[in-house]
Amino acid sequence: MPIARINTMLFPEGKRRALTLSYDDGVLQDRRLVQLMNQCGVRGTFNLNSRILGRVEQMTLDGKTADISTVTPREIPVLYAGHEVATHGAEHSALTAYGSAGLLEVLDDRRVLEGLVPYMVQGHAYPFGLYDDHVLDGLRAAGIRYARTVVSTGTFEIPQDFLRWDPTCHHNDPRLMELAERFCQTDALFGQPQLFYLWGHAYEFDMDQNWQVIETFLHYVSRFQDKIWMATNGEIERYVAAWRQMVFSADGSRVYNPTAFTLWMESLGQIYTIAPGETVCIKSTEAV
Ligand SMILES: [Zn+2]
Repeated sequence: MPIARINTMLFPEGKRRALTLSYDDGVLQDRRLVQLMNQCGVRGTFNLNSRILGRVEQMTLDGKTADISTVTPREIPVLYAGHEVATHGAEHSALTAYGSAGLLEVLDDRRVLEGLVPYMVQGHAYPFGLYDDHVLDGLRAAGIRYARTVVSTGTFEIPQDFLRWDPTCHHNDPRLMELAERFCQTDALFGQPQLFYLWGHAYEFDMDQNWQVIETFLHYVSRFQDKIWMATNGEIERYVAAWRQMVFSADGSRVYNPTAFTLWMESLGQIYTIAPGETVCIKSTEAV
C-alpha cells in the first residue's frame, strides 16, 4: 500500500544546507572581504561593472564617506579565484526603461568579464535592485541564468525563479546572527534543504565601521562547515537546475538523472546518490 512519501533534494555530499554570499560593485574592500571568506571557507559571487573597473572615487552617503574605488581588470582573476565573478551591468545602469541598451549593458559586461575568468559568466545582480518583466526577457536573451534582487526574505527558501533571486538578508539586517543561528542549528520541517543567501557591498563595512559584523558571521558559520555546502551563486543555480531535470517513473519507483551532475536525494530516510545518466530504484516502504 502506498504511503505518503517526500523525495527531498539534498545538496552535494548529501548536505541539507547551502550558504552563498553576493557582493556588488567590485570595490577595493573586496580584498579584505575575500581574505576573511577564504580564512573561513565561505564562498560567493562578486558582481562587477566592467566599464568602471579601476575607478578612483569617494562617496558620501548620510554624512558618512567611504572609498568606492574599484579593482582593476588585472587583479580580478587572482583576487576572486575560488569565488565567482558575475555581471552587474557594464556601467551600473538601471536596466528598467532603458530598452535594448540594458541588454547591451549586460552582454558587454559578460563579454569583458569572460575575457578575465576561465568560466562562462551567467549571473547578474540588479543595479539599484530594479527590474521588470522586460528586463527579465533581456537577461534571458543575454544568456543570464540567475539574478539577485535586494528584497530580503528572512527565510532559507530556494527560489522557484532564479532570475528573481531574493536574498535571505543584507549584512546590516539586525536579524543577521539570529538567522545564522537558526540556519546552522535548526533543521527545516520535513528535512527540506535550506539556503542562506547574504548580500551587500564591501565598502559599507568601511562606511559603517562595522567589519566585525561580517567577521562574526563568517567565524560563526565556519564552525558548521561539515554541514554546509559553501558555494557560489552559480554552483547553487546549476545544481538546483540539474536536480529539477530529474525524471521520475509514473509509479514513483525509479528516478533518472539525465544531467552531467551527480545528484543527491533523500526518500523515506534513505539517501541516494544518483550519478550522471544513472537510473536508480527508489525503495518502497515495505523494503525499508
Ligand atoms: Zn551596485
